[in-house]
Amino acid sequence: MTVRVVLLGPPGAGKGTQAERLARATGALHVATGDMFRQAVREATPLGRLAKSFMDRGELVPDDVTVGLVRERLSQEDAAGGFILDGFPRTRPQAEALDRLLSELGRPLTAVLELAVPDDEVVRRLSGRRVCEACGRNYHVEFDPPARPGVCDACGGRLVQRDDDREETVRRRLEVYRRDTLPLRDFYARRGLLRSVPASGRPEDVTRALLSAAGVEGA
Ligand code: AMP
Repeated sequence: MTVRVVLLGPPGAGKGTQAERLARATGALHVATGDMFRQAVREATPLGRLAKSFMDRGELVPDDVTVGLVRERLSQEDAAGGFILDGFPRTRPQAEALDRLLSELGRPLTAVLELAVPDDEVVRRLSGRRVCEACGRNYHVEFDPPARPGVCDACGGRLVQRDDDREETVRRRLEVYRRDTLPLRDFYARRGLLRSVPASGRPEDVTRALLSAAGVEGA
């Protein structure tokens, strides 16, 4: 079955890790706006320079920029077999724009999966998070360590802490999440799409629960 899924949840809930695992299990495309922005920053493109000024402060990149990026990505051929949206939508206007885009494409969402994590755990997860500076894969020093400390299992790149995982910025990102993104739970609950999954367990257990909530056979 084709999954067209939005992953909701606070920063540090494990959206990136779970989106990768879901994409592997279902063959769907993993679309992470944060990863796309970070790549643009690394490549120092005009989009990257714009995005960086917001990301460094823990603020959201403006809706029109973000929606344009997602529209372009989801309109490509390889999104036809399904997608996992990770970090998008994050505001009500983004959610409405996504609805319009998917109805134009004739490919509505099949589920919205919320990763539910207690607040104190979010901070613990963010402070231990490391990311590969070459390929962008995520690790956690305690919960999901690489085989060799500081080195990416996938590509051998160096693992670093994200600039926006510093304490000050984390606090701001959590505020922005509560103000702008949390209302999307109601938005999707009203459409009958929302499934909330406890996400504090082992990554493989969380993946299984998400697949089952998404209605994937054999999960
Ligand atoms: P993430 O990796 O999803 O935590 O995203 C990192 C940063 O990228 C966010 O703090 C925002 O500055 C920016 N960003 C990612 N996705 C979005 C989005 N859907 N809307 C606006 N800004 C975003």
